[in-house]
Amino acid sequence: AQRNPGQPEYLQAVAEVMESLWPFISSHPHYAEHGLLERLIEAERIIQFRVSWVDDQGDVQVNRGYRVQHSAAIGPYKGGLRFHPSVNQSVLKFLAFEQMFKNALTTLPMGAGKGGSDFNPKGKSQGEIMRFCQAFISELYRHIGSDTDIPAGDIGVGAREVGYMTGMLRKITNRSDCVFTGKGLSFGGSLIRPEATGYGTVYFAQEMLLHAGRSLEGMRVGISGSGNVAQYAVEKAMQLGAIVVCVSDSSGTLYDEEGFDAEKLALLMKIKNERYGRVEDYATAAGLPYMAGRTPWHIPMDVALPCATQNELSGEDAQALVKNGVQCIAEGANMPCTAEAITVIEQNSVLFAPGKASNAGGVATSGLEMSQNAMRLCWSSEEVDARLLEIMQGIHRACLKYGSRDDGSVSYIDGANIAGFVKVADAMLAQGVI
Ligand code: NDP
Repeated sequence: AQRNPGQPEYLQAVAEVMESLWPFISSHPHYAEHGLLERLIEAERIIQFRVSWVDDQGDVQVNRGYRVQHSAAIGPYKGGLRFHPSVNQSVLKFLAFEQMFKNALTTLPMGAGKGGSDFNPKGKSQGEIMRFCQAFISELYRHIGSDTDIPAGDIGVGAREVGYMTGMLRKITNRSDCVFTGKGLSFGGSLIRPEATGYGTVYFAQEMLLHAGRSLEGMRVGISGSGNVAQYAVEKAMQLGAIVVCVSDSSGTLYDEEGFDAEKLALLMKIKNERYGRVEDYATAAGLPYMAGRTPWHIPMDVALPCATQNELSGEDAQALVKNGVQCIAEGANMPCTAEAITVIEQNSVLFAPGKASNAGGVATSGLEMSQNAMRLCWSSEEVDARLLEIMQGIHRACLKYGSRDDGSVSYIDGANIAGFVKVADAMLAQGVI
């Protein structure tokens, strides 16, 4: 805490990991040698820079840009960019730290990074978004590269923003190798990349339920958020026979007692992705109840998939979910459950998957995009989707390997943390003190 003052999110993420690693390290003490743990929690490099751009009124705006290059022990730095006013070093350091374990779990050779800006894309014109992206990348480009650091999207950074940044990067570097993933299909993007995080989260929840002798079919699923991850979580949950009863944004929650169908999802996606509208606009268009200022967690559901942002599901929310009989919670977002929520979830033996396991499908498919670009090939949707499912099943098996308890239950938190840690730690030990 003394070395990272004012960084509560970072301390929260490190504490959660260290707590579950500690018994494992006690019985495998060589992992505490050579300053390994001290090195593991210190980012290799943090870049902070000024982003100046001109708004539609002709006024100069100044934002702060960052890239946290946490670990390249198992491959080039890899992780998304977030544009949101809440972005600061604490948030990005926690995300990069979590990314290290997640990327290791995918089994692909990817190190960990995360970046972004405190820029708020809400209410900005298309021109302003483009100028901001160009200004941002005109500094970041010198720190990234296809064998060094490969960013992607995250909150506030979707296909449009990745497109603008890729375009400017290509122009100023005169290169077209893969420095971004999540690109548009017409310039090197991978099929299924937009779907991958949401699909992967649902695949993972299904694996957990199947392992416990249950299935998603017929279950009531509650989803928070309504962005990239949430939309495709809705789609895959529906495809697997679940009834999706809600989505949300930071202003409120939509409740759909009968459940989403393909037509309703298409309308939601049109309003969110083409018109940059709100969940309330969708509720009005679909004639469904909207609860302003409420989160989804008081709604009765069997499976909860928090897919919005960090610390969006509190201890009280977890109590409400448990009271309503929730059976499984899989994090689509990064660290959406607070430490108090996780305590409540564990005390009540609810199946729980941390984001570093359940939302790893996005970065895994980014890894597949990198492979396709390097080979100058495009795989079919079926092929990418099959690989995604295989990777999610592999992560589930890794969690069982390190997280199974004597009573037959599974701690997916311990499983994911230890499995990810072992891979990174072995690589660090083999490479010496650097
Ligand atoms: P988007 O920007 O597409 O969507 C974010 C959604 O979360 C929006 O609906 C947004 O609503 C909502 N949200 C943001 N802040 C809050 C808040 N404080 N309270 C309630 N809702 C909020 O982002 P993504 O879908 O890409 O990312 C969502 C989460 O998934 C993040 O935690 C991200 O790190 C994680 N993730 C994403 C991956 C990806 O491939 N995209 C990969 C792995 C993890 P509003 O419009 O009101 O802000």
